[in-house]
Amino acid sequence: MELEQQFLTDNDCYQAGRTITPKGVMVHSTGVAQPDPEVFVRRWNRSGVEKCVHAFAGRERVIQTLPWTMRGWHAGTGTSGRSANNTHISFECCEPAGHTYQGGEMVGYHVEANRPYFEDLYRNAVRLTAMLCGQFGLDPLKPGVVICHAEGYDLGIASNHGDVLQWWPRHGVTMDRFRQDVALTMEDDTMTQERFNELMDGYLAQRAGLAPGGWSAPARAWAEEQGIVSGDGDGRRRYCSFTTREETVQMLYQLNQK
Ligand SMILES: [Zn+2]
Repeated sequence: MELEQQFLTDNDCYQAGRTITPKGVMVHSTGVAQPDPEVFVRRWNRSGVEKCVHAFAGRERVIQTLPWTMRGWHAGTGTSGRSANNTHISFECCEPAGHTYQGGEMVGYHVEANRPYFEDLYRNAVRLTAMLCGQFGLDPLKPGVVICHAEGYDLGIASNHGDVLQWWPRHGVTMDRFRQDVALTMEDDTMTQERFNELMDGYLAQRAGLAPGGWSAPARAWAEEQGIVSGDGDGRRRYCSFTTREETVQMLYQLNQK
């Protein structure tokens, strides 16, 4: 995911400069057939827009438009009188070109033709949300943490909008699936050297225990008879594991002694 910063410094929201402690991430979609995030950055970077999000996700890149801890103007006020603006980082997903809207429904949207676009966009949305959850210590699977605008409305913390449920389910993607994908991506991201070594040791042990193929039986018999392969001290010859440079020269040495 390519992430760049172009803060909307001329937007009144940025000028207001209030801050939040992020408790979640709210996903939006723009509701207009415009795939280029740069277009929104240009349109929204002025006074009088009356809305502002933390980022725009496109197919190829994500543009961060507010500091993550700045209060955005993306959710309005919900039926509870509360607003996700005070708690949630927000980003807009840019929609591909070609469709229009009628009464909040997409019209003329071609699911098959837009599949590659959607897959790229979706991957960026997952990675961005995983990155933010990691950065702010958020659990994407906890209720109310990672939500879309429509879910925010149901929770009473956002205005009555349908995004992203007017769009993503057309590609068979639910918000539950999104939260799962975010959680899985976070697990991948928490790989450490220690964990890698652990996995590598396990993998090598597994390979060492594999039985060699019958096709190499004459060669193995010869090598053992010649003392070229003598095992690791415990008698294990680890024929299906890797050979270190140290073991290679040892084998050459044994061969040369003959
Ligand atoms: Zn929205």
